[in-house]
Amino acid sequence: MNKKNITIAIDGPAAAGKSTVAKLVAEKLDITYIDTGAMYRAFTWYCLEKGINCENEADCDAVIKDVAIELRPGHIVLCNGIDVSKQIREPRVSSKVSYIASYKNIRLSLVEQQRAMANKTSVVMDGRDIGTYVLPDADVKIYQIASVQTRAVRRYDENMQKGIPCTYEEIENDVRTRDYIDSHRSFAPLKPAPDSVLLDTSFLSIEESVDMVLKIIEKKTGVKPNV
Ligand code: C5P
Repeated sequence: MNKKNITIAIDGPAAAGKSTVAKLVAEKLDITYIDTGAMYRAFTWYCLEKGINCENEADCDAVIKDVAIELRPGHIVLCNGIDVSKQIREPRVSSKVSYIASYKNIRLSLVEQQRAMANKTSVVMDGRDIGTYVLPDADVKIYQIASVQTRAVRRYDENMQKGIPCTYEEIENDVRTRDYIDSHRSFAPLKPAPDSVLLDTSFLSIEESVDMVLKIIEKKTGVKPNV
């Protein structure tokens, strides 16, 4: 690393491979990876556990103050001290998270934590509104896309590897529904920042995608991996 505190925003629709790419880029640059989707998922998991109706904004707002979400190294996600890293990927969470993520007060609370993390250190942060809302002054903004089918196949394979039961149809439906809700909400919707670089990974391998992102980062900031 040859510059202090750089911020890299990777946004895009569901299952576009953002977190896979962001994780590897962060590793190669030796900086912190922040998975903001995991934070919305952890809060959704909490609401489900407590029997709260995720489609009722007031009910969800009422409990955000009770929840402490922590992202630990090794992609561990804690919710009030409980390791929920695996549970937050389950279809029952995926199918509700976009409702929760459309509530302004929930977003304001989680965005505050995301900005605080980015203030402390260099980060690669992935999500839906990082370049447009969370870190509008990010040094590099990538908008990562891939076709719906490519994304659904990748997510299905990932779930199978992790032992998360699901069907392909369920995944494709989830991806389409979340994209619709995420891009149509009124507060901080999913959309490319005007100054973002579009990266279509439909026909790129993970390595090729990571290489392209690293090249974009180097061109914009001069920062490159040490090795
Ligand atoms: O990134 P991931 O697919 O795990 O995110 C889960 C959900 O969290 C998204 O579908 C979206 O509803 C919400 N989200 C968001 N803003 C972010 C990150 C995620 O609204 N910055």
